[in-house]
Parts: sequence; structure tokens; C-alpha cells
Amino acid sequence: MNKPDEDKGSRPFIGIMFDCCHIYSRLYKNKAGTAYVGWCPKCMRKLEIKCGGGGTNQRIFRAQ
Ligand SMILES: [Zn+2]
Repeated sequence: MNKPDEDKGSRPFIGIMFDCCHIYSRLYKNKAGTAYVGWCPKCMRKLEIKCGGGGTNQRIFRAQ
């Protein structure tokens, strides 16, 4: 079992491309560590990407 890296001092995040406004931004992990949550900086649309149980090797996402 891998222990999550929670004590490195910085919150984990993923890069996200908001297709709605063609803006690149970041989603930060929520407190529970279950998902990455963020908002489009332009239209404030909320986006949430769940952290899968098997993990993901993807670092850049696209908002559909
Ligand atoms: Zn947008």
C-alpha cells in the first residue's frame, strides 16, 4: 500500500484545460483527498475530477 504524500508542504494539483474558455488552470485536491476541484477562471464553471482508486498517470486533463 502506498502512503499518500501529504506531508510535503504543498497541495497536490493537476493541470486542466478548460475547453469552455480555452484556458489552462489548475485543480487542487480537496481536503478529503477524493477529488481535484477547481473553477474556470473566466466563467467560474466548477470542475471536479475524482481521484480514482487505481490512480491515474494522467497529469493534464481536458474539461469536456
Ligand atoms: Zn470557462
